[in-house]
Amino acid sequence: MSDSESLVFAAPPATTVPVVGLAACFPVHRIYCVGRNYEDHAKEMGFTGREPPFFFMKPADAALVVNAGVTAPLPYPSLTQNFHYEIELVVAIGKGGRNIAAANVREHIYGYAVGLDMTRRDLQGDMKKQGRPWCIGKGFDLSAPIGPITPAAQAGDVENAEIFLQVNGQDRQRGNVSQLIWNIAETIEHLSAAWELQPGDLIYTGTPAGVGPVVVGDVMQGSVAGLTPIQLRVV
Ligand code: MN
Repeated sequence: MSDSESLVFAAPPATTVPVVGLAACFPVHRIYCVGRNYEDHAKEMGFTGREPPFFFMKPADAALVVNAGVTAPLPYPSLTQNFHYEIELVVAIGKGGRNIAAANVREHIYGYAVGLDMTRRDLQGDMKKQGRPWCIGKGFDLSAPIGPITPAAQAGDVENAEIFLQVNGQDRQRGNVSQLIWNIAETIEHLSAAWELQPGDLIYTGTPAGVGPVVVGDVMQGSVAGLTPIQLRVV
């Protein structure tokens, strides 16, 4: 688009995520998600064994930024009776590429954040049964809460970080990023074979066991050791 080109209405604002320690924000390009990437979660969903990684997407504007130290309101979405949390480590891509080898992913990673892959589980289940796309179960408005992005150099050992989610102060999910079936490097290798990654892409890397429902009034606290935790209240 040239500067002189006019638009029939104002372009939507870019989705941006704050970066720890910087005034500048991270502009979101796409949101990719990995399915069933922790063995204990794959089992609780009725699957076993290591299958090739598979991916789905959420719209970029499904990201709901949760700032440090605040409790962000998360509206209970329409059409569902079974609104599930999935705590996930999010990888933020700073340099794009296609067919990125696992050995070379470091230079492509900008940083990491804590995210939630919120899911309308009943609708996802209906779509699975019918062999239909998951969009309505996974890609709805505000389905991708995310905390501030910590640049990779300051994020510590995320590959071995504890990851957990509490609801109303009670543990619901607790695992370690080291339990990923497909680790961060392998995930990026597979993902970049299917899509050309771009700066601004976010990758929700999967969730450990213990997924379950929340209702209006519940407070969720999500954390990955070394990153800024997030807190949301379902409203
Ligand atoms: Mn997930």
